[in-house]
Amino acid sequence: MEYRPLGTTDLTVSVLGYGASPLGGVFDDVDEPAAIRSVRESFARGVNFVDVSPYYGITRAETVLGRALSGVPRGDYVLATKVGRYGDDEFDYSAARVRASVDESLRRLGVDHVDLIQCHDVEFVSLDQVVDETIPALRALVDKGKARYVGITGYSLKALEYVSARAKVDTILTYCRYNLQDRSFADWLPTFQSRGIGIVNASVLAMGALTTRGAPSWHPASAVLLETCARAAQLCRDRGSDIAKLALQYALRLPGVSSTLVGSAKWENMARNVAWAAEDIDLDLVAEVERVLAPVRNVGWPVGLPENQDDTVEARSPMA
Ligand code: NAD
Repeated sequence: MEYRPLGTTDLTVSVLGYGASPLGGVFDDVDEPAAIRSVRESFARGVNFVDVSPYYGITRAETVLGRALSGVPRGDYVLATKVGRYGDDEFDYSAARVRASVDESLRRLGVDHVDLIQCHDVEFVSLDQVVDETIPALRALVDKGKARYVGITGYSLKALEYVSARAKVDTILTYCRYNLQDRSFADWLPTFQSRGIGIVNASVLAMGALTTRGAPSWHPASAVLLETCARAAQLCRDRGSDIAKLALQYALRLPGVSSTLVGSAKWENMARNVAWAAEDIDLDLVAEVERVLAPVRNVGWPVGLPENQDDTVEARSPMA
């Protein structure tokens, strides 16, 4: 496993991080002992970075992760959680709520501090509130020793840019925007790098769309996008490969990223992910898959408040 500094923080993270949303049953029902094993087997293979949120499984993922972390020396892993999002349509970015939220997360996770506290999906709320109220409240928690660094997460690149231009942000977690199907994030990377921000890349399997099993029913992409990804998955199968493998390997080669998150409640999947990360990528297959995905290249979907959405998402989408 390779390790990299997380931006200008003093944290060092594995290039492959564990995304813990599956521990909340986001993709499947969770078999708790199996889920705990999946975290532990990931650690045993060198993964040291874990990302979770109170939103995942509405606190379940944090609870299960807390059990998985029990007995693991605190210095052995870098732990990130989030504030602000508590349900599909439930957001509270007030200083009072995020202060309470961090205490609740620490209890569920069984730790006295997290390494990174992130504002979860900022495009759903007033960005000025994030800048003027939420981030200052989180900075105060850093001063109290409950968190070490402050980050923001989201889909809208415009929203991430807006907040990070106006408040000190240590990390940005981008999802579904820097992968085999969508590379929109590349346009924004130099700006974020010039601000010394550490980059975490998530959902590089496009929330399941770039897997053989395909996207879950709640996936927000259009049918055309999902069908095109399914055709790419079939092509990989026909070539004796696996689209998840190609998508993960591809993402791990994208510049500017400290850690790429992938998660599964099945330890076999995580063992495979770690093994794939160490293998060479099949560049001929990448070229073939890119031809299949070309009609949906950088096509996204609207996320968050209309004023916070990227101007380009709908305009680029042939099926919007
Ligand atoms: P993903 O693109 O990594 O896809 C996850 C799906 O792929 C799951 O169904 C999982 O079982 C499956 N999978 C994993 N490894 C596989 C393998 N080897 N073979 C086949 N299928 C495999 O999506 P994700 O879970 O959305 O993203 C990863 C993590 O990133 C999350 O758990 C979360 O921690 C983080 N994330 C954060 C945000 C945010 O903060 N707004 C958004 C998205 C993701």
